[in-house]
Amino acid sequence: MISYKDFEVNCRRLEGRMAAACQRSGRERSSVRLMPVTKTHPVEAALYAARYGFASVGENRVQEAVEKIPHGPEGLRWELIGHLQSNKARLAVEHFDRVQSVDSEKLLRKLDAVAAEQGKTLPVLLQVNAGDDPAKFGVECAACPALLEVALGCAHLTVDGLMTIAPLDEDVAVARRTFERLRETRDALEASFGVSLPELSMGMSGDLEDAIAAGSTLLRVGSALFGMRD
Ligand SMILES: *Cc1c(COP(=O)(O)O)cnc(C)c1O
Repeated sequence: MISYKDFEVNCRRLEGRMAAACQRSGRERSSVRLMPVTKTHPVEAALYAARYGFASVGENRVQEAVEKIPHGPEGLRWELIGHLQSNKARLAVEHFDRVQSVDSEKLLRKLDAVAAEQGKTLPVLLQVNAGDDPAKFGVECAACPALLEVALGCAHLTVDGLMTIAPLDEDVAVARRTFERLRETRDALEASFGVSLPELSMGMSGDLEDAIAAGSTLLRVGSALFGMRD
């Protein structure tokens, strides 16, 4: 685990990358936020994030997060960014403030039922496989309208927007195309359903500039903040 001082240095470096990317894209710096991804790191990573002033952190495995959250800082929000199986939906609703990785009708219905039981409204993002990557979870772009229709009918869920992970590819054009496709998909859904889907969660340590250029509102960054994972 890196020191808090090194973490601060990394935060400032990232801030510089984000500011430069916003400027190049003609975007307000305030239109895109950064969410530290603390997966694989001890709970200290979440404590660093809160101390620096971040409002939320991302985790990709339910069980790992559930073990850290009770030891985490007061008031920090935890978001699930990894694949969620329906049989862990109850645990996820109990512990997470938002689930970014919703990619099936079955999962939507399960989350809605559990949130209802717990007397909660759970914010979610629909995870879209906008890069058509066989190695990635997420609903196909073409299936988004059907999934959104179900999501909008879930009384105990609110749909904040969409999330995607770009395919790993040496060709940077692949990531850029993936992010643009997510934005276009969002724009089309907003127009046809007459709803607002403001959040576009896209961009990680290696591709955040392309994500900002394509309209990302939320970057999920791990290694550029906390160092390489084992
Ligand atoms: C691990 C992870 C990230 C962060 O990736 P880095 O390359 O370390 O910045 C972002 N999103 C998801 C879904 C992840 O699992």
